[in-house]
Amino acid sequence: MTNPRIETIPMLPFGMLNAFLLIKGDSAILVDTGLPNSARRVENALKKNGLGWSNLRLIVLTHAHIDHAGSAADLRDLSSAPIIAHEAELAYCQGRTPIFLPTRWFGRLFRMTGAIQRPFRYFTPDLIVSGDGHDLSDYGISARLLFTPGHTPGSLSLLLENGGVLAGDLAASGILLGGIARKNRPIQPPFEESPRQVAASLRLLLSQGCTRFFLGHGGPLTAREIDRHIRNLDAKS
Ligand SMILES: [Zn+2]
Ligand SMILES: [Zn+2]
Repeated sequence: MTNPRIETIPMLPFGMLNAFLLIKGDSAILVDTGLPNSARRVENALKKNGLGWSNLRLIVLTHAHIDHAGSAADLRDLSSAPIIAHEAELAYCQGRTPIFLPTRWFGRLFRMTGAIQRPFRYFTPDLIVSGDGHDLSDYGISARLLFTPGHTPGSLSLLLENGGVLAGDLAASGILLGGIARKNRPIQPPFEESPRQVAASLRLLLSQGCTRFFLGHGGPLTAREIDRHIRNLDAKS
């Protein structure tokens, strides 16, 4: 199977928050859903590619922070596409407040605003990944999910055959929330539950041949930039 087209959906300007559509023929998979009330942005991205809600076959969640899962329940209603997430992320999908461990001053400040701890429409995923991996070819796109914990306990990455990987918040790039400027400079996202586990998950992705890392905040980054980031994380722990 050939690789799908990757359509970046800017959920906030300047690459500060991205979701992604993978498109192959008349099938689309959405990876992450943005903040609450993001359905129109997804609909516009589908339309731009000549597609509609009925073409959306699957909603993948890299993790269940509000900026990635905030519109999942609405999008499932609109498209009837199932939501897939890792079992270790289930509690966050169902409303348990995540542990927001700030990685630097911006995360501390951001946490104080309360913007990320606010409630959103919680949900139970239709499909729950319980092992290390999951093949998505049944949904018309040749890709697999890999368990890559660290940012949250149930973070998933979606790997394509051409070395592309949608890695959620395993890394970010830029400044502040990510993006904006210095987009090829890897940084930790504002929050990270276990930097040590993040480093191990990024190493796993490199060992699987991932070369281009599409991220929730900023990106994309090369394998070389990710390698540099892993060494920075190692130096901190
Ligand atoms: Zn996150
Ligand atoms: Zn995020």
